[in-house]
Amino acid sequence: MPDITIPADLLPSDGRFGSGPSKIRSSQLEHLIANQAILGTSHRQAPVKDLVARVQRHLHELFGLPEGYEVVLGNGGSTAFWDVAAASLARNRSAHLSFGEFGQKCVAAHTTPWLRQPHVVLSAPGTRGTLEAIADADVYAWPHNETSTGVSAPVVRVPGAAPDALMVVDATSAAGGIDFDAREMDVYYFAPQKNFASDGGLWWALMSPAAIARAEEIAATDRYIPEFLSLKTAIDNSRLHQTLNTPALATLLLMESQLEWMMSRGGLGAAAEHTAQSSGLLYSWAESRSDVTPFVTNPEHRSPVVATLDLDDSIDATAVTSILRANGILDTEPYRKLGRNQVRVATFVGVDHADVEKLIASLDYVLERL
Ligand SMILES: *Cc1c(COP(=O)(O)O)cnc(C)c1O
Repeated sequence: MPDITIPADLLPSDGRFGSGPSKIRSSQLEHLIANQAILGTSHRQAPVKDLVARVQRHLHELFGLPEGYEVVLGNGGSTAFWDVAAASLARNRSAHLSFGEFGQKCVAAHTTPWLRQPHVVLSAPGTRGTLEAIADADVYAWPHNETSTGVSAPVVRVPGAAPDALMVVDATSAAGGIDFDAREMDVYYFAPQKNFASDGGLWWALMSPAAIARAEEIAATDRYIPEFLSLKTAIDNSRLHQTLNTPALATLLLMESQLEWMMSRGGLGAAAEHTAQSSGLLYSWAESRSDVTPFVTNPEHRSPVVATLDLDDSIDATAVTSILRANGILDTEPYRKLGRNQVRVATFVGVDHADVEKLIASLDYVLERL
């Protein structure tokens, strides 16, 4: 690897551009210090229950949830929620839009002995297909943003789907960074280590009355559901601002701080404008250079929160990301299993425009010298 030192005036003030865990702003850490009396205390007592209730209220407000929707939480992150959904939401068969690693993991979780083989619309990395109604699907599932490829998909009900079919959206990297209409989904789930700039380990699910009814319906059948995967248990606990087992308290505080900050800056609409501008800087830069190309060819499919940029074969992307790393610019490597000659940059809401501009200047500097 060539030894390239990027001049200090070209370096971002914060070098964290990873797709999760992502940059945590220092004022969030100040919030931790200011609330340190909560850390190390019982999650069954009022101070922690009040904290959970505040985060639930903030999420309700940020996403403009319609009447009757509830904010549910549990432990285990988004990966656990895939199994929760298969155990507690799918009745007979799920249908999926799969266009990358995360969407495919959701399909795998729904491939179970108690469900019929999932219906899957699969597309090549960097593209996405369209989910159409099929007769026997009672759950339609897709990622709002496919973090492994930088492709996003709209949150819109599948036309022609059965009236009681649920729209279940993996929003892990999209939530808080892309605007959408909450009436178009029944379950919008995510973990907080991306736009919410917190740590991993929790899952959150914004649930419609139909989704809550489905979880209750399935809990009342004779299907065996491990307690940890019981959405009904999580719903009952969430109504009391509780979780089945101990949640990470620092994670909740970091998230509360990020939510307050997002609201003070104008809420979800403003956050979405911010991420679109940041990623737009990267896509325009890629289009201005002959040796860099946005991986996602269709501009309408390009993610506003995770920009993937292919480098010309004459440039070794691993050398580029290693040089960036040696200069303190972190986690610009592509998704490990995608295996492309590419850089991937998360432009979550906490990443400043000025730092994206500096990252571009640093990239120019390195590319000129390789
Ligand atoms: C990061 C990510 C996940 C995995 O989240 P965990 O909390 O690590 O389980 C799932 N789906 C998407 C779209 C992601 O970006």
